[in-house]
Amino acid sequence: MTDKELTVSDGLAVGLEYTLRLEDGEKIDSSAGRGPLDFLQGEGQIIPGLEQALYGMAVGEEKSVVVEPEDGYGLRDSTALQQIPVDAFPSDIKPESGMALELQDSSGESVLGFVAEVGPDSVLVDLNHPLAGETLHFDVRIATLRAASSEELAHGHVHGHGHEH
Ligand code: ZN
Repeated sequence: MTDKELTVSDGLAVGLEYTLRLEDGEKIDSSAGRGPLDFLQGEGQIIPGLEQALYGMAVGEEKSVVVEPEDGYGLRDSTALQQIPVDAFPSDIKPESGMALELQDSSGESVLGFVAEVGPDSVLVDLNHPLAGETLHFDVRIATLRAASSEELAHGHVHGHGHEH
């Protein structure tokens, strides 16, 4: 089989051009200017709703994909908010709305939070992903498609672009 006859299936290295818009049309991310996103299909490296939609696509093929929150970054969890006293922050860090913070959850796992609100004494941190609860609208195009090397399959990710290891 030549690369031209390949279609997206598990174990293939995919180069994906994409534009991501929210429900209201606001563009929030794009591969334009950065080059395609390279990943290994079937490894859960991209959100499940998008990965599922790519199966069977050929190089050059374009598609619009709508991903519901459940298949994207999850639903918003209104209990995933945490008040942190302002004096718990190191003196050289001034918390600002939208700032990303790395916190530890009750089991000691590191989790990413975002400052939602800065009050006089405490800072409200939202542990939801910023895109949780959002319906995602992707316009995608398969830029490249090739069989992954045995090394890439063993590592579970794609090499190239300086990611050799
Ligand atoms: Zn590797």
